[in-house]
Amino acid sequence: MTDTFKKYLMADNSARIQAVRLESSWQTGLAHQPYPECIRSLLGELTAAAVLLATNIKFQGSVVLQLQGDGPVSLIVVECTSELTFRATVNLRDPDLVPAEGSLQSLLNANGSGRFMVLLDPGPGSDMAPYQGIVPMEGDNVAQVLEAYMRNSEQLDTRLWLAADGQRACGLLLQRLPDIGGVMTDDGHSSAGAVQGADAASRAESWSRITQLASTVTSAELLETDIDTLIRRLFWQETLAELESRTLCWYCPCSRTRVANMLRMLGHEEIESLLEEREKVSVSCNFCGKPYEFDAVDCAGLFVENLDDSNSRTLH
Ligand SMILES: [Zn+2]
Repeated sequence: MTDTFKKYLMADNSARIQAVRLESSWQTGLAHQPYPECIRSLLGELTAAAVLLATNIKFQGSVVLQLQGDGPVSLIVVECTSELTFRATVNLRDPDLVPAEGSLQSLLNANGSGRFMVLLDPGPGSDMAPYQGIVPMEGDNVAQVLEAYMRNSEQLDTRLWLAADGQRACGLLLQRLPDIGGVMTDDGHSSAGAVQGADAASRAESWSRITQLASTVTSAELLETDIDTLIRRLFWQETLAELESRTLCWYCPCSRTRVANMLRMLGHEEIESLLEEREKVSVSCNFCGKPYEFDAVDCAGLFVENLDDSNSRTLH
């Protein structure tokens, strides 16, 4: 099993530890996306991060992470669903000028207006409203951008380590859990408070210890080590309970109907002018590369159906 997510709990409930390792699903996703290594690494790190966040959502839906760039890369987007299917892609500002090398900052935040966006999408039919958060792109790598975002938006301390190349995308997340009853410090007025205070102090110590242990992990170690070995190697002195083990797969839900809707949104005139240039409108899905073709008859059908829809709405 090469595409795995695992979640562990510290025995004293001080923190949870999550790890993801994508291999064959990652290679499937990259098969038609021939980017240089530096861009694949960023895409893979964002993918591993999206999986780690998606495994904590409490609704059926998806987590979408976007790095919106003002440099050679205009957008890196990853979507991971609560069923643990994911898809990821990159948009380049000028596809003819793909940089062979670069960092997060030089590729996406060259002019300082890069943004990081998180979208929690409960999907159609849910009572819950989608949540969207956008922050500046602060940090030297994807993990730091996410940690900065979490510091501002989440109540829980979170640390992340991410690594990816053309073969694998891997990540480790530590999240500090709130103390029982929400009391972080002892007020000294009751024995119960004193017990809670001592407990809180011991859990704070646990948190500090495991973040130090995790900080010793290198990118090469993350990429080369299976999750069980990695967790044993880093936390061999700790008592952990394994809470969850799940598999992941690459999946793109694109369809001819979705592409047709997108073409409709471009409008009749735009489609007509595209048809004048060539015989067919050809669209490939950014995520999976699947080609969709609409000839003149198909294109005419797009707007006739639309007309029927609006007629029927008017009539009823
Ligand atoms: Zn697709």
